[in-house]
Formats: sequence, C-alpha cells, structure tokens
Amino acid sequence: MWSYDDSRAALRDALRLSRAMTYKAAVADLPLGGGKGVIILPADRRAPSERRQAALLDFADTVEALDGRYITAEDVGTSSRDMSVIGRRTAHVAGLARSRGGSGDPSPFTALGVEAAIRASCERAFGSASLRGRRICVIGLGHVGSRVAKRCARGGAELVLADVDLAKRALAEQLGARWTDPGRALESDVEVLVPCALGGFLDHDTVPRLRCAVIAGAANNQLADDGIADLLAAHGILWAPDFVVNAGGLINIAEEIDGYDPASARRRVRGIGDTLRRVFDDAEAIGATPLTAAMELARRRLGPGRAEPRPARAG
Ligand code: NAD
Repeated sequence: MWSYDDSRAALRDALRLSRAMTYKAAVADLPLGGGKGVIILPADRRAPSERRQAALLDFADTVEALDGRYITAEDVGTSSRDMSVIGRRTAHVAGLARSRGGSGDPSPFTALGVEAAIRASCERAFGSASLRGRRICVIGLGHVGSRVAKRCARGGAELVLADVDLAKRALAEQLGARWTDPGRALESDVEVLVPCALGGFLDHDTVPRLRCAVIAGAANNQLADDGIADLLAAHGILWAPDFVVNAGGLINIAEEIDGYDPASARRRVRGIGDTLRRVFDDAEAIGATPLTAAMELARRRLGPGRAEPRPARAG
C-alpha cells in the first residue's frame, strides 16, 4: 500500500515487483508463481482509517475474483492486521496473525534471511562469514532493517544506521551504533551496505559514489535497471541479488500451504546463505554477474519439465 503520483506509476511498480516475485519464488525453489498487488490510496475526504479499510476490502474483492490463482500477503505499508481485514472477504490471504492460524509478520524471517545473505557475501568477499568488527551500514530501520541491525550488532559488527524517520535514531543509541544522514548513507565508508528501505537507488549516479565492497539488503528492486549489475561489478562491488536475499518472508509464508511449522521455516530461510553461495559460484563459472546467474537459476527452474507451480503468491 503506497501513494503513487498516478496509476501508471503504480502499474509500473506492480509489474516490476511481480517480476521480482517470480524470480524470488523460483530461486527459493518454492511451489509458487509470482504476483504482486498494489493499493493506491484514494485522495478523498474520508478519515484515513475509513479510507484504509475501504481500500483493503476493495482489494480483497479483487483477490477473491481471482479464485485462488493469486494469494495476497503483507508488504510495505500493510500488516497482519490488514490481512485480517482482507480475510473478511477472501480466504486467499496469507500472513494472518498466528492467533488466526497464519504465520504472522514475515519480517523476522526476512531479517533472518538477510543476515544469512550478509554472512555468505562476506565469506565470498573477505574470506570469512564472521560479522565481528565488520563495518556495516543499514539503511532503513523499519520492520526488516531494525531486526537486521540488531542481528548484526549481536554478531559484533561495527554499525552505521540511517533512516528518514529521525525517531529511529533511538535504535542507533540502543545498539551503540553511529547515526548518519540518510542522504549520505550510501557513501558511508563501510565494507557492507545493507539497504532495507525502498528500491531503485542504485543507478549511474549513485554507484560511482559507493565506497562499500558488498551490498546485501532486503529492499526490493534495488537496481534502477538490470544493466546496473554490470556497473557494480565494474566497480568491484559484490551485489547479492535482492530477490535472493529477501526471500525469507516468502519462504515463511509458503510454509502455510502445508501446515505452518516455524522451525522448518527458519531452517529453510537460513538456506538462503547456501542459495547465494551457489549463485556466486555460478556467476564465477560463467563469468557473469550474480544477477545473471540468479536469473538463469530461476529460468531453469521455471522452464519446461518442471511441475506446474501452485497458485501464485502474493504481496
Ligand atoms: P518498512 O516500511 O517497515 O520500513 C522501511 C523503513 O525505511 C522505514 O523506517 C522508513 O522510514 C525508511 N525509509 C524510507 N525511505 C528511506 C530513505 N530514503 N532512506 C532511509 N530510510 C528510508 O518496510 P519493511 O517491511 O522493513 O521493508 C523494507 C524493504 O524490504 C522494502 O523494500 C520491502 O519491499 C522489502 N521486503 C520486505 C519484506 C518483509 O518481510 N517486510 C520482505 C521482502 C522484501
């Protein structure tokens, strides 16, 4: 749920995000396709809570009309409480609260997967998966980023944190981390950049200004276009493909299909580290970027000879 300049911008976002969902589900080897719904809040005069509820119920009717070919779940701007509202009109909703039989907020699992990805990327770039003393900057301290920051702090990293919301500065104090202005965070003198805000920020203007050696974060669609993966490689930066790194929430939600078991979800989410190692290996073997290697892995899994995916998920 987001406010867009116009419906074209929303459609573009939905298409980009649904493409990423397809790659994400395939690389994580989940029996799901790819889909994404965006909700554009109407600019009318009703109170925000009424407006929100009406938008969620309209969205639920659309999901219901798809008759199980699309399952929705929370993402930026929505919560498991919103999924309960959607659940009044359709059963094709995942990520409901644990008390309602769902798997709850996916963010802790996304954060667990991001940590596994950071460690696998550090291993590749620096020869060690340890975070002790590693200089890491987390940008965006929301549901996922705040948890990633805590995980990195527990691992002994030297942290720099940034968010446009100044209230998040309290987390930096709590973790003994340095705070930086979000406008300058990308240029932080750190080894690892962990983007956990919104996407599209890696482009021809920002990449030459980066000082990190590794980028591994939760933000969806980090590259302004696919060619930026080559630019990052040319600058000697190891970029872990976002749709591999941030699959933890989806892996957790997919566990709902056959009966939810959080321990099994955690085990599978930790496997993101191994998936990423395989992507890096493939990239080296074919002399391509990790993006190309990850997309190739997805295409192989989506290709002929594979079983029909179960109904698409979500978001
Ligand atoms: P969130 O809305 O809870 O947090 C985003 C945070 O980023 C907020 O604190 C916001 O103030 C901050 N922010 C926004 N613009 C910023 C900027 N320019 N600079 C610095 N900070 C900025 O969102 P989230 O659920 O934590 O998701 C973060 C990212 O991860 C999104 O791109 C989302 O699509 C992606 N993602 C999330 C999940 C999940 O499980 N929540 C799963 C997969 C991918």
